[in-house]
Amino acid sequence: VPTESKVTIDGRFARELPEMAVAWQADAAPAPRLLALNEPVAADLGLDPEFLRSPDGLALLLGTTVPDGATPVAQAYSGHQFGSFNPRLGDGRALLLGEVTDVAGRLRDLHLKGSGRTPFARGGDGLAVVGPMLREYIVSEAMEALGIPTTRSLAVVATGRDVRRETMLPGAVLTRVASSHLRVGSFQYAAATGNKDLLTRLADHAIDRHHPQAASAERPYLALFEAVVSAQASLVAQWMLVGFIHGVMNTDNMTISGETIDYGPCAFMDVFDYATVYSSIDRGGRYAYANQPLIAEWNLARLAETLLPLIDDDQEQAVALAVGVLESFRPRYSGAWLTGMKAKLGLPGDLEDEVASALANDVLTLLQENHVDYTSFFRGLGPVVRGDARPARDKVLDAAAFDAWAERWLAHGPDADAMDRVNPVYIPRNHLVEEALEAATAGDLEPMNRLVDVVRRPFDERPGLERYAAGAPDDFGKYTTYCGT
Ligand code: AMP
Ligand code: MG
Ligand code: MG
Repeated sequence: VPTESKVTIDGRFARELPEMAVAWQADAAPAPRLLALNEPVAADLGLDPEFLRSPDGLALLLGTTVPDGATPVAQAYSGHQFGSFNPRLGDGRALLLGEVTDVAGRLRDLHLKGSGRTPFARGGDGLAVVGPMLREYIVSEAMEALGIPTTRSLAVVATGRDVRRETMLPGAVLTRVASSHLRVGSFQYAAATGNKDLLTRLADHAIDRHHPQAASAERPYLALFEAVVSAQASLVAQWMLVGFIHGVMNTDNMTISGETIDYGPCAFMDVFDYATVYSSIDRGGRYAYANQPLIAEWNLARLAETLLPLIDDDQEQAVALAVGVLESFRPRYSGAWLTGMKAKLGLPGDLEDEVASALANDVLTLLQENHVDYTSFFRGLGPVVRGDARPARDKVLDAAAFDAWAERWLAHGPDADAMDRVNPVYIPRNHLVEEALEAATAGDLEPMNRLVDVVRRPFDERPGLERYAAGAPDDFGKYTTYCGT
């Protein structure tokens, strides 16, 4: 049976938006070796894991052999990188293999990262290395398990080719699955061409794939914008609630679907600090933890600008309408955040927002001032309700301040079991991710496999896994992440 019979890949993006798709081929890989295969994702796609492990399967995961009828493309997009507009970014080291219909009938992009230089590569080598591709695999699995919308990782395959970074490192390709790869930057690209027909096709494509209810709205393109505002407000609130820092929220890294995309210099915050930045290139702190909602709003304003010609022929009217929707970002974000904080604190849903908000903000101030580990503190609040204050209280140097806060909080009768369902025990701790990536790069996949197993059940505390629940050891030092590696 030829490989081709195993999977049907459509080319809808390239067919509907040819101006934004450059047909391209993945580089050959001298010695493919499977490092990670996501069986639940394979099952969702109706792909047989046995097949994916075979040489033909690896060729599919690397894009070196594509099924009949499929045409891999590099997607064109623009983007604001750290606030400056670049009209021509695009997939410099990535390819869209095409779309697959999963077993639930949903369309899913199959996408490769690290598959070689494309016409968008600029100065880059088009390649990716094992460590960062496995980081995306681990962190995206954790996000999924935490219930946060995300692209998924189907597999990571080592290519057998060394890649020049600061040292020579083993190369790899990540096979990513996403509800699409449409970004704010895709709209910026279409708008910058001045081709209104292209922009309209892109917007219609996005409505059909992600926000079909917008099609029947009085103003479909305004409704599309509103749907993206809503999805992103909710997404970023969820990041904030788990202490996730994306690290590079450029407009090309923000999806129209509302899925988290592009796990580069991302990290989960250990010690709570609003100003946390991990990325080596984010010197101004533009993408610091506390800035993420503001940046999301800024990016959405850039999306709105692209849609103005479609919203109304009268541009003044279009601006007024778009601003009206953009202004809904803050209340949507705050609402989602406060709902999430009420859940983390086990507070009744009908508790007055002012009271809940004061409790939440005051506890965060306490964490900030006392340099407390965010994840383990919140998990430690369940035991406080059950009568053992130590797991949370012992983390706070100013115990009197903790006691004063806890007394106010406990007066509302928090529900400890409900809290345990939303406050994770296990997140991909930076020091454990680094340890796993270092081992994998040296050929030992065991720590990575164990870490993936742990973060796939984040709320379910298991004996023997204390190491995975603890904050970074003191000697780990200040953590720095890198992009484009
Ligand atoms: P990112 O910061 O990961 O969103 O990437 C920004 C842009 O740089 C995108 O156009 C990428 O395709 C491109 N890029 C990143 N790394 C490489 C690389 N090693 N080779 C070619 N292009 C790259
Ligand atoms: Mg990107
Ligand atoms: Mg990236």
